[in-house]
Amino acid sequence: MGNYYRYDAHCHIFTLKYAIKEVKSLLHDILHGTYPWDDPNAKKLGSFKRSFSDLKELLRQLYELIHAAGGTEEENLEFLQKEAGTAFTPDELHIIPLMMDIFYMFAYPLNKDEEILSVKRLKATPVDEKEFQDNWNEILDDLSDYIQPQKKSLKATRNPNETKKVERTLKIIEEERAVKNIIESKNRKLKLTSTQDFYQTEGYCYHLDNLMDLVKKRKGELYPFIAIDPRRPGIIDTLLSGSFFNGDGLFYGVKLYPRMGFHPQSKPMDKVYKYCNDNQIPITFHCGKGGFPPSAEWKYSEFGNPINFEPVVKKYPNLKIDFAHLGSSDPSHEWAKTIVRLVNENENVYSDLSCYTSTDELMPVKKLWDDNPKLKTRLMFGTDFDVMYFTDKVNMQLYYNNFKTIFTPDELKILMHDNPVNFMGIND
Ligand SMILES: [Zn+2]
Repeated sequence: MGNYYRYDAHCHIFTLKYAIKEVKSLLHDILHGTYPWDDPNAKKLGSFKRSFSDLKELLRQLYELIHAAGGTEEENLEFLQKEAGTAFTPDELHIIPLMMDIFYMFAYPLNKDEEILSVKRLKATPVDEKEFQDNWNEILDDLSDYIQPQKKSLKATRNPNETKKVERTLKIIEEERAVKNIIESKNRKLKLTSTQDFYQTEGYCYHLDNLMDLVKKRKGELYPFIAIDPRRPGIIDTLLSGSFFNGDGLFYGVKLYPRMGFHPQSKPMDKVYKYCNDNQIPITFHCGKGGFPPSAEWKYSEFGNPINFEPVVKKYPNLKIDFAHLGSSDPSHEWAKTIVRLVNENENVYSDLSCYTSTDELMPVKKLWDDNPKLKTRLMFGTDFDVMYFTDKVNMQLYYNNFKTIFTPDELKILMHDNPVNFMGIND
């Protein structure tokens, strides 16, 4: 054991397999007529059904976003620990992996003060296996057509590691080709015994199960956060039942991604904040202008504005909230300034520096750090693995080196140990 544990307070260890499985579920529900579109009561599927171009685009984006994570959750954990071990010998790395729920990104948005729409009137139609398989083949073929040329050019440049990754992806595509299992998966059994009540999709549950296995196997090395999207039927009730945190449930916090289309002040969210406040469960929410999907013009970008959480912070002063990414991808630093103000005015507002991939981006942060003593007690280190690879600017060693260039060893200890430990409320 080293001097102390270091924490990656914001990373993701989901895999491409998770992403492909989730999109397959999405296609199923579209064909089934039960996907809650913009207007869940409209029976039409619109242009989506004709070409599924949005789903093709989604898979390509997910591939780009997480192509470095082609293996298993455990391989990702070990990779992160090995890289941190090189950068900070002899310290060991513990991680806070955040789940993500992308299933509802094409669904109706949940605006400020709005309630969840009832989707009971959506008429389910039996899914024809052949039609499902044909459509899924078309979508997967599109992804493999997208990847094949990369395989060729990588072979030409003799890059064995990257070539291997591409080959692995092509293999995963073939493993996920059959749709029959989705049609028959109505009787899914989750490894979490008491969470049978929420709406379960393939990818979300696959990743959740893998995380729970890993938490048991690698005790103390990871502290996963469960992704909550209020539009997933039953998920909030399951959360309130405590089963993600007690018994077999081994989550440590909640991850929110309003950018997927729900406003932080939409009606059902208050129950989440109250529960987390009462039970001392920390929340991390995506608070960068960029992210996924990778477009600054994404229609729900503004839902992630830190200002939307100010009433929550005021109402629940004991609730620990990490305003992730310190409002990154914002040239005006307006979001970052809001977060720093909230840090200064409130005792339980935190932030993290995940996905800061260059010293140019870290420099203005260092100034905020130097000028704001309270920020020094709340800011945390994070990598955003493996989303940070998406920027194509860094590998892990470069990422760590940038932080070592900007922050002193003592400051790094605060960012990587003291503040995450306080945020998580763990004894370490
Ligand atoms: Zn992230």
